[in-house]
Amino acid sequence: MERTPEAYFDGLYESDADLDRVADRLREAGMRDISVAAGYGRLLTFLVAATGATRALEIGALGGYSGICLARGLPANGRLVSLELNSEFAEMALANLTAAGLGDKAEYLVGEASANLVKLKERGDTFDFFFIDADKENYPYYLEACLELANPGAIIAADNTLLRGKTIDEKKQGPSVRALRQFNLTIARDNRFQGVHLPAYDGLALVRVKA
Ligand code: SAH
Ligand code: MG
Repeated sequence: MERTPEAYFDGLYESDADLDRVADRLREAGMRDISVAAGYGRLLTFLVAATGATRALEIGALGGYSGICLARGLPANGRLVSLELNSEFAEMALANLTAAGLGDKAEYLVGEASANLVKLKERGDTFDFFFIDADKENYPYYLEACLELANPGAIIAADNTLLRGKTIDEKKQGPSVRALRQFNLTIARDNRFQGVHLPAYDGLALVRVKA
């Protein structure tokens, strides 16, 4: 098979025991590894650190791969709140962050993300960095909820904007695809923020909330 540009660059980096452990645990549990792509994981760490974010919110934890990437970018007193529907996944993610020495930074809220987003709003939490990576049909809603919890200048990242090519395939008209098309258009056009699309891997959207 021809090597992709993504695989070429991924191959330049040394292996990462803490991230490899996540893949191992997912495999052992018989779970599909749909963790964020390696290059976007590195980008998350980079952006959290570069923006000086101290409070990050993740929607969709799975085995903790992106959680590790986000928490690594935070300062010593930083906090990661992660919303996860499945309690077993949340436990696996916390175990993997703990093994990576990052467990004390993380808080997992189990249940429907939409319900926990309301709770976060009620308890007055705000965030400097967001990573949207849960059920795709709700991306438009998650974007609005993140904007409500965002500090001025906050960054919102969202994974899988290409849905393995379905987003750009006119024949695909399922609810997730339609939601992502609407989401992607909002990223491009909404004046409440600056939006940018990265087409590598499965696509990533970035939003900078206006200060
Ligand atoms: N961000 C992870 C991958 C997340 S995969 C990483 O890159 O490492 C998507 C996750 O979203 C799954 O763990 C799934 O259980 C969770 N999820 C799906 N629907 C959800 C919902 N309605 N509320 C909260 N979490 C949800
Ligand atoms: Mg993803």
